[in-house]
Amino acid sequence: MSVVGFDFGNESCVVAVARQRGIDVVLNDESKRETPAVVCFGEKQRFIGTAGAASALMNPKNTVSQIKRLIGRPFSDPELQKDLKSLPFTVTEGPDGFPLIHVRYLGETKQFTPTQVLGMLFSNLKGIAEKNLNAAVVDCCIGIPIYFTDLQRRAVLEAATIAGLHPLRLIHETTATALAYGIYKTDLPESDPINIAFVDIGHSSMQVCIAGFKKGQLKILAHSFDRSLGGRDFDEVLFQHFAAKFKEEYKIDVYQNARACLRLRAACEKLKKVLSANPEAPLNIECLMDEKDVRDYIKREDFEKISAPILERVKKPLEKALAEAGLTTENIHAVELVGSGSRVPAILKILTEFFRKEPRRTMNASECVAKGCALQCAILSPTFKVKEFQVNESFPFPISMSWKGHAPEGQNGAAEALQSTLVIPKGSPIPCLKAVTILRSGALTVDLQYADVTELQAPAKISTYMIGPFQSSKGDRAKLKVKVRLNLHGIVAVDSAMLLEEEEIDVPVVKETGKEATKMDTDEAPNEIAPAETDVNMQDAKPGVESGVPETGEKTAAVADEKPVQMDTDSKTDAPKKKVKKVNVPVSETVYGALSPADLQKVVEKEFEMALQDRIMEETKDRKNAVEAYVYDMRNKLHDKYQEFVTPPEKDQFIARLQEVEDWLYEEGEDETKSVYVGKLEELKKQGDPIEERFKEHMERGGVIEQLAYCI
Ligand code: ATP
Ligand code: MG
Repeated sequence: MSVVGFDFGNESCVVAVARQRGIDVVLNDESKRETPAVVCFGEKQRFIGTAGAASALMNPKNTVSQIKRLIGRPFSDPELQKDLKSLPFTVTEGPDGFPLIHVRYLGETKQFTPTQVLGMLFSNLKGIAEKNLNAAVVDCCIGIPIYFTDLQRRAVLEAATIAGLHPLRLIHETTATALAYGIYKTDLPESDPINIAFVDIGHSSMQVCIAGFKKGQLKILAHSFDRSLGGRDFDEVLFQHFAAKFKEEYKIDVYQNARACLRLRAACEKLKKVLSANPEAPLNIECLMDEKDVRDYIKREDFEKISAPILERVKKPLEKALAEAGLTTENIHAVELVGSGSRVPAILKILTEFFRKEPRRTMNASECVAKGCALQCAILSPTFKVKEFQVNESFPFPISMSWKGHAPEGQNGAAEALQSTLVIPKGSPIPCLKAVTILRSGALTVDLQYADVTELQAPAKISTYMIGPFQSSKGDRAKLKVKVRLNLHGIVAVDSAMLLEEEEIDVPVVKETGKEATKMDTDEAPNEIAPAETDVNMQDAKPGVESGVPETGEKTAAVADEKPVQMDTDSKTDAPKKKVKKVNVPVSETVYGALSPADLQKVVEKEFEMALQDRIMEETKDRKNAVEAYVYDMRNKLHDKYQEFVTPPEKDQFIARLQEVEDWLYEEGEDETKSVYVGKLEELKKQGDPIEERFKEHMERGGVIEQLAYCI
């Protein structure tokens, strides 16, 4: 079993693997520790990762990047719309209201969903891990931003399935960082925890998390974020600054030329990096547009001036995280700064002023997420023995459940009214299991939704569940226990529904019944992190004002005067016993925007075909190279050590043949199929092998002795 962690960034991805001696970041094919999150579609194959990034400038319209921004968002999402303006590839709205990416691939216009493209990236990362471990990789942990919605989390899982991966957990990036920070610490306090603030500024977003550390555990106290504040925003400021200047000084409008835009953006990113270490930096681009070379420079202080609107936003998530954790800056023991976007010096200044202490960079800013993911995978995997370290995660978004129900007995107006209750309050542990008991006479539909979307800016509705049919002898007073699970990935779902019917029975009671009943509620806990089950008693459900749930009037389904449901039989008396009969009720799920199992299967197969095509192309290149290598090698040998083993006419003829093949390779044979190259090599070998044989035989018989004798 593999123990692997993947950090898929908006710009670059990192793969970490667990080995017996520790966690390592592994190198990709180009011996780099970071792999660009880029897929380039070509006429014959795809180029993913480093190979994809290399072709971005040559083939911008078919090079898909920033997929983390597109995944799991409806096309109408305002942030997505804004992002699309600066992306060089075409994205349209699909029939389901989600984005479709258009590219030219294998000579045709093809469309892919962001999930499919992420699947391609994951396949590439999986390949990197497999090459390094020399084993198949399936189990893994994948880092995701804290602000990912339910649908985005599902999309990441779908993409993982497309790549043949099985994530044991989607873990919040900042939590992975906190884990990588804490697990190696040997000086954590036994009781009063120390609080550390982690600030991650990446390519497109900023995330903050405050965690309390004690010996053997960490507890997430608060999360906050700005989904659109990252390194690329500084590039954009520089880009706009220079685009405007060049329009005036050189009379060129880069906005009119996709390639010029790309080149200027890339130059601005470089410039920004230079400014991180120098007080000023030059910008020179040859032949940017209309055959004009441009030359300019900018001082760091001017860069900071034009970036002021972005820099001003850095403070807000910091304030929010502190407030949510109920702490002041004095309670923060240290601030750890990660993410490469945070290398802009002005950010450090802001953080230092805010926390009144200089942030540290003790973590490896670009690798800590991947390492934390690999550590989490090792903790969850039975194959690894890891130091005992508990991660107590907190879910940042409140989730409510709503359904149409009857008014309770004795109340006027039996009309169906919309009921709603907060099932997962903000700050709930991940994972957790909640039970809601509803009085009900027949099948019903329930919705799960975000109780507050101001921060998420996502559609409130997550999923709909058909619960039923069922029949109860109790009519309207049948108790239906609906269980809602927030799983280890932070994905919410109705887990099961059960009809609870009290029956009076005379039979003596077997104690185990009770145990079983209780067990049933918790035995599905994934891995060792057992979700805490809480009963949400409708009686206690307050009108949802405090949680942001729109008030829906009466909490009609409240089990008004009901005692809590008796889960086991009463064995203390001899009177007729009350037994709760439990009947499972079927539940069917609809998640808005998620793939059906059949559609997922289709895209899995499609990915398989494309991967096969890539492999065939790689092998074709490989076979072509083999022919070329043979030509060079044989020609050299014919002039050298095989000289004695061929007759002069044989040699001349063979050399001429080799020349012919070499010419063919650069002309009509340049773009042939694998089998043609294989055939060509065989044909040459037919002629070359006997010569090689003669040489070998000679060497074995005494060639060496002869040489030795000569030496003596
Ligand atoms: P995200 O976490 O947002 O999904 P990511 O993990 O791919 O994205 P990082 O690799 O952490 O992002 O950061 C990438 C950003 O860091 C880019 O915008 C890059 O320009 C910026 N960056 C890298 N080095 C420096 C530097 N020396 N100075 C300033 N910015 C830098
Ligand atoms: Mg990142």
